[in-house]
Amino acid sequence: MDYQTYFRSELDHLREQGNYRVFADLERERGNFPNADNHISNAVRKVTIWCSNDYLGMGQHPTVLNAMHDAIDRVGAGAGGTRNISGTTHHHVLLERELADLHGKESALLFTSGYVSNWAALGTLAAKIPNCLVISDSLNHASMIEGIRHSKAERKIWKHNDLADLERLLAEQPLDRPKLIAFESVYSMDGDIAPIREICDLADKYNAMTYLDEVHAVGMYGPRGGGIAEREGLMDRLTVIEGTLGKAFGVMGGYIAASRDLVDFVRSFASGFIFTTALPPAVAAGACAAIKHLKTSQTERDSQQAKVAEVRARLDAAGIPHIENPSHIIPVMVGDPVKCKWISDVLMDRYGIYIQPINYPTVPKGTERLRITPSPVHSDADIDHLIDALGELWAQCQSAQMPMAAQ
Ligand SMILES: *Cc1c(COP(=O)(O)O)cnc(C)c1O
Repeated sequence: MDYQTYFRSELDHLREQGNYRVFADLERERGNFPNADNHISNAVRKVTIWCSNDYLGMGQHPTVLNAMHDAIDRVGAGAGGTRNISGTTHHHVLLERELADLHGKESALLFTSGYVSNWAALGTLAAKIPNCLVISDSLNHASMIEGIRHSKAERKIWKHNDLADLERLLAEQPLDRPKLIAFESVYSMDGDIAPIREICDLADKYNAMTYLDEVHAVGMYGPRGGGIAEREGLMDRLTVIEGTLGKAFGVMGGYIAASRDLVDFVRSFASGFIFTTALPPAVAAGACAAIKHLKTSQTERDSQQAKVAEVRARLDAAGIPHIENPSHIIPVMVGDPVKCKWISDVLMDRYGIYIQPINYPTVPKGTERLRITPSPVHSDADIDHLIDALGELWAQCQSAQMPMAAQ
């Protein structure tokens, strides 16, 4: 085989399908987020980021930065090992305590990312519990799907957020068969929210465990930022709550929070936890500071929600279609991969606005979109500029002025 030719032809195929991914080379400016420098061949241009998952701007927050500087100055750069072999630092221990407290659980366990936490925790639970059946929401994140697949346990997919379909699958199983219902609270592409209470009711009725990914909700919802389950008073009803430190908490890392025994079980059996170097202590310290801050400060959440409402109202006034949902995620529906990429490119080139196009396979064909995530650090002028630019491009897309051939 001519390996290089094979790689190139597969990549060409991606390009033809419009699915080839191009990354924006950004350099955020401390204290000036959401503004950043965008590096393009030998030049630098100023852009405003409108698609970051640093939802609350905590990745720039002085409290978080100070905690990280302080930790580096005191303990150095890396953890120096896996958690098992000299990599457990006091910062990891403190962070796990903070996370257990955030979710009202006995214990928490850190992983190097949210992806790894889903992959390792679901993979381990489903593989090790004898005859476990995993019932997985059809829109679950790739990290959950891969974890479940890796476990080799039997799995069934329930229709997204459809309680009747979930109950149908639960009811056809023996009551004493181990079952794990895996789902998310806020779904990242449509921004809709799962009926957590009703899912927990079904789990109780059919003797199933529940595994909730709150990645897009931690820090953002609930009086202490514990997520949708906290807001709805349901944290104690979930078997496992999983989250990330990389989105609203502004740093990186992932975790699960659950009973002491379940956490100890995953800690003891999950390859993806055991055999990898622990997060740098400064990262743990930064995450800890962000969580602590958001446990008591409502300012960031309030301000973010106000900006989201403002952007939605302005999109409505401009006649730009977006999915109405109860979360902070604003999907502006384009419904065509070429137009979606074109709008995104022109926003960047002409207006200095960065919104990544979301195309298949991340979302189904025909639902291509621009996913906008307003944050407390977007100014009124930023919003004006965004709406003006989108309005102009939207009009051009409707008429025949869009230079299709140029793409
Ligand atoms: C981003 C994401 C993850 C992965 O979290 P990382 O910390 O970025 O690895 C897991 N689940 C969902 C739903 C996500 O959107």
